[in-house]
Amino acid sequence: MDIRNYKEEELVELAKELGQKPFRGKQLFEWLHKKQAAAFEEMTNLPLEFRKRLSESYCVSPLKIVKKQVSKKKDTQKYLFALPDGHMIESVWMKYHHGNSVCISSQVGCRMGCSFCASTLAGLVRNLTAGEMLSQIYEIQRDTKERVSHVIVMGMGEPLDNYDNLIRFIRLLSSERGLCISQRNITVSTCGLTERIRDLMKEKLQITLAVSLHAPNDEIRRKTMPVAKKYTIGEIFQTCREYFEVTGRRITFEYSMIRGVNDREEHARELAERCKGLNCHINLIPLNEVKERNCLRSVDSDIQRFKIILEKYRINVTIRREMGSDIDAACGQLRKKFLNQTGKN
Ligand code: SAH
Repeated sequence: MDIRNYKEEELVELAKELGQKPFRGKQLFEWLHKKQAAAFEEMTNLPLEFRKRLSESYCVSPLKIVKKQVSKKKDTQKYLFALPDGHMIESVWMKYHHGNSVCISSQVGCRMGCSFCASTLAGLVRNLTAGEMLSQIYEIQRDTKERVSHVIVMGMGEPLDNYDNLIRFIRLLSSERGLCISQRNITVSTCGLTERIRDLMKEKLQITLAVSLHAPNDEIRRKTMPVAKKYTIGEIFQTCREYFEVTGRRITFEYSMIRGVNDREEHARELAERCKGLNCHINLIPLNEVKERNCLRSVDSDIQRFKIILEKYRINVTIRREMGSDIDAACGQLRKKFLNQTGKN
């Protein structure tokens, strides 16, 4: 069992069950999440007997680094981790002037089936636990010896399809008694599961919600995102408006630019019309071409033109800086390559 998965009050209960005073549970939480100990032996102020009992049933870190790729500029590192059951996930570390950011996976594989994405090629294998999500950050901090200040849940998987574990993860990550990453520095990206976005509004979190739009209308969206058959863009925008009213947090829309599919002038205008009156930010992502998929990246001049049109409508828009494209940093690419080489899928 992965002990990083437990809340402080659960560790207090566990300590009591193992015949210890309740405060031992609090100390254990601090070792795990504030000091990020890698093993029970490091927890020197805990009684030996307690540590022994813990190590009989629990492990501290569920992840092992299998592979690490460093970009030429050294500002991006991609990690392939093995889970205890042998499955693989990937995470990316990015160095920015405002701090270090980690992009984590929330599931092994994904069942959303977007036609340009490598993570979903073999479907969903399983959800990650909160401890497995946290461990991606802890292991990367240990490896880089630098503090992580921002976390984005934008790697492999659909986080809102793993809702309970995601919420537990966010609360542990932002806990004052843990790594204490400000919720304002945590971004969760979803393909737009509206019921779950409504649940999320009620959690009273200060996180940033990013919604993968990738199209200005349902017809185009359905060409690349099967999930668009269930949730219309109209419903998504309505839900986002409510999300902003309830949380006061500006929404980010992600828009991956696919040549000839969603990158024309009329698409930019249609998108801008939809965004009217909504406090949002649009992040244009030049598509990362995936070998197994036949989507092409928009040409730079089309991306620029798209941006200029949105700006004319006074929409906040940025083009995502490409980091790590020399190290397969697009979602699911490194894992896919590794599995291909080892003959697994
Ligand atoms: N399932 C979530 C989060 C994971 S993907 C979601 O859909 O938002 C993170 C973002 O990268 C999403 O916007 C996703 O659509 C996009 N993406 C996936 N593969 C991509 C690729 N090959 N090129 C560009 N963007 C991609």
